[in-house]
Amino acid sequence: MAAVPVISTIKNLRTRVATWKKEDQRIALVPTMGALHQGHLSLVELARREADRVIVSIFVNPKQFGPKEDFSAYPRDEAGDQAKLKQAGADVIYAPEAKEIYPDGFDTKVHVGGVSDVLCDASRPGHIDGVATVVTKLLMQAQPDVVLFGEKDWQQLVAIRQLVRDLDIPVKIAAAPIVREDDGLALSSRNAYLSPKEREVAPLLHAILAEAARAISEGRPVDTVLKIGESTLANSGFRVDYFELRDAETLIPQKALDGPARVFAAVHLGKTRLIDNLPIPGVESAEAQAAPQPVKPAEERTPDALVKAKAVPQVSNKARAASPQAKSAKAQSPQVKGKPQAASRQVKSAKARAESPPVKADTVQAESPASDRPRRRRGGA
Ligand code: AMP
Repeated sequence: MAAVPVISTIKNLRTRVATWKKEDQRIALVPTMGALHQGHLSLVELARREADRVIVSIFVNPKQFGPKEDFSAYPRDEAGDQAKLKQAGADVIYAPEAKEIYPDGFDTKVHVGGVSDVLCDASRPGHIDGVATVVTKLLMQAQPDVVLFGEKDWQQLVAIRQLVRDLDIPVKIAAAPIVREDDGLALSSRNAYLSPKEREVAPLLHAILAEAARAISEGRPVDTVLKIGESTLANSGFRVDYFELRDAETLIPQKALDGPARVFAAVHLGKTRLIDNLPIPGVESAEAQAAPQPVKPAEERTPDALVKAKAVPQVSNKARAASPQAKSAKAQSPQVKGKPQAASRQVKSAKARAESPPVKADTVQAESPASDRPRRRRGGA
């Protein structure tokens, strides 16, 4: 199999896109910053279902990093990305240099109102502007029929939806669910920064989010649940940036459950910043409402379950995968507490409860209905 062609200039990208458009091929764009993992590849997989040709952009966008952030240290892995994208069936890698995207004299900023200045942007001012600016440019350059984003960066997703709506950009947005490790940790290029010890603690972020989402869905007071979640995170070694319930579309903070909402968290673990979010089960969508939720023993339905999360023994991925308990845990029903394997099981079961439909690394879905354009078979060249 030949290497995936790498295009580094706007001119060459436009030539390639023009050829495909002449052939009436449907084009997908997957914007990334590289150091690719299964989360990115799930977007490529979804893109292949949505279009005939898939462009994956790899550009570590300086404009979405703050002055003291990890721009220069951000993981880069050209060879690994090439191999993964070849395997995943991408048609082109678009990897421009910074000066191609931001030549001398570049002085425009795209600002999406409303959803920009909260969550990540509150502690990383200008982050969403940086994302909106580069995504606008990538959309103008590649002119795709469909562009793919992950729900992991939910704020980014809603900002781009608004951008596309407000500027009448003729592109469909498709979103893919969060791909996680078996222990619940959302895949992220930044997970590479975690020390082995931090890596063992990191899945608690998802476990605590999941417990909060469940407690809120069961009618516990939102303020109390969020406070407990935040202090549990702090007591577990995380420095909490935010832990909040917000409307899924407007990102307005919610004091009570009133329609589709998500819990959002950003934390620091050592020098690594981690983000995650989960829907509130039962109000996320029609499908979520239709899916029966497992009934749990009464003592596990209190917000105290959040506090228990920090007391759960930490088990490494490897050890967990190898242990007989871990294997049997997969087969058993969830929520057995007070046993050494509880960490793994609690996370898995929380995940299963909180995410509807359940997300696996190999499961992806479009957020909007498939286009009415006829699907074509992938061509040869
Ligand atoms: P990044 O390279 O971090 O800018 O991410 C590129 C795209 O991949 C964004 O749309 C992210 O939301 C998406 N993405 C990153 N991690 C995951 C994940 N674990 N699951 C699903 N999508 C992801």
